[in-house]
Amino acid sequence: ELRLEGVSRAFGKSAALADLTLTVKRGEFVALLGPSGSGKSTALNCIAGLLPLTAGTISLDDRRVDHLAPEQRGFGMVFQNYALFPHLTVRGNIAFGLKMRKVPRAEITRRVDAALALVQLSAHADKQPGQLSGGQQQRVAIARAVVVEPPVVLMDEPLSNLDAKLRHEMRAEVRRLHQELGLTTIYVTHDQEEALSLADRLVVLSDGRVQQIGTPEEVYLRPINSFVADFMGYRN
Ligand code: ATP
Ligand code: MG
Repeated sequence: ELRLEGVSRAFGKSAALADLTLTVKRGEFVALLGPSGSGKSTALNCIAGLLPLTAGTISLDDRRVDHLAPEQRGFGMVFQNYALFPHLTVRGNIAFGLKMRKVPRAEITRRVDAALALVQLSAHADKQPGQLSGGQQQRVAIARAVVVEPPVVLMDEPLSNLDAKLRHEMRAEVRRLHQELGLTTIYVTHDQEEALSLADRLVVLSDGRVQQIGTPEEVYLRPINSFVADFMGYRN
């Protein structure tokens, strides 16, 4: 399990994230949801190790990780600008993390083939990213993140660059992947519907502060304050 206690990050005097306490169980899918500027990416970057904390601790299975560099934490990351390596093929992009970890070549081939099948890109394995559609590139980014079987996958608005149709298709794909691989996932979005449909639990943020943590039913049907009620309600 991933445990955050009092995780905080300030920029100068202003708190981008204040006192986030949350335990994510193994295999759980948690969405961080809130409006623009509410601290979602700050939270994810703190968990990833890309941004130092100003207070708090992060532990994975009772081992402190907040002092570790991102690559030592070994979390999978899928970000909004899911920059693929343009000169590598799809296969090369997905294999990259395994090569870095010095996984034997035969095992790399086996795992990359499995990851390609999982995101339904086997037929595109030898293309370069520029020859793929946005949704296909997105799937390469997801395959690249999950192929190393990370203990935690962090996704920051991974579908926001896609058109509505593709976004809905990819949403189903993210859910399927999560279920098939049993991945522990933290998923940032400002889209209420996306969070409600994907997550086991939601963390609703506003101005860097947690407003409510609960299941989709709890947050949607029993909002704890008027902010959550307004934020969850206005779309529906
Ligand atoms: P969005 O939905 O627009 O991506 P967000 O919820 O991800 O928003 P954050 O990027 O976490 O929001 O930003 C939270 C607050 O922290 C904002 O007020 C932002 O201006 C501030 N902030 C984020 N990064 C920095 C930085 N590097 N320097 C100064 N302030 C920052
Ligand atoms: Mg953000």
